[in-house]
Amino acid sequence: MIVAIDGPSGSGKSSMAKRVAKELGLHYLDTGAMYRAVAFLALERRIDLNDADALESIALNDKIEFVHDEGEAIAKAVKIAGIDCTKQIRTPEIDKAVSPVATCAKVRSALVNQQRQIGALHNTVMEGRDIGTVVFPNAEVKIFMTASAEERAKRRYLQNQNRGMTTLSYEEILEDINRRDRVDSTRDTSPLKAADDAIMLDTTNMTKDEVCEFIKNAYLAVAKSN
Ligand code: C5P
Repeated sequence: MIVAIDGPSGSGKSSMAKRVAKELGLHYLDTGAMYRAVAFLALERRIDLNDADALESIALNDKIEFVHDEGEAIAKAVKIAGIDCTKQIRTPEIDKAVSPVATCAKVRSALVNQQRQIGALHNTVMEGRDIGTVVFPNAEVKIFMTASAEERAKRRYLQNQNRGMTTLSYEEILEDINRRDRVDSTRDTSPLKAADDAIMLDTTNMTKDEVCEFIKNAYLAVAKSN
């Protein structure tokens, strides 16, 4: 079974998808980390981010690995071409570089193939932008999670503070979220958009526990009827 969780940057889908996967005993795949890993390697190799063929070559040939501890749903590290990039893919530099990478149709096609292969192996909670529309249009559960841009910026700001990343102000984060929303929803290939049959979940005024219960119940309702 596939639980597809899509939504814009900072909607809280990553931490929620991880929690749901853990509590339901499902595999977890962060597809954004794959686009980030390709962006990381492109910068390492000083590749022009507009060079679609060079980016595609990374996506096709440089293996992305999620390193798991035995029996753990959540990966403890991400590697590309054997290089551990777990921390580096979360920097503001990659936040910027990932947009042109994710806009590249050739990269998307290569990564979507890998995502389908992973999803075919395990019951998976998969999160991204196009899981319910493109990667797994027949996913058994589809959630489109969102929250206002201001609420998402506030959450990202607090998360950064907790991680000791204090360089970006709330306003800068809000600006980046608005920029990424714009790029994600207006690109030609797989724009960010809810699947027609997705459950819309606006979490602006919901607690994390409420969101988690909601998604688990949606999954359990389908699991029971299967
Ligand atoms: O989810 P996260 O913010 O880590 O994703 C990084 C970037 O990758 C996003 O800004 C988005 O453009 C892109 N992305 C995508 N399709 C996905 C997952 C992420 O285009 N399935």
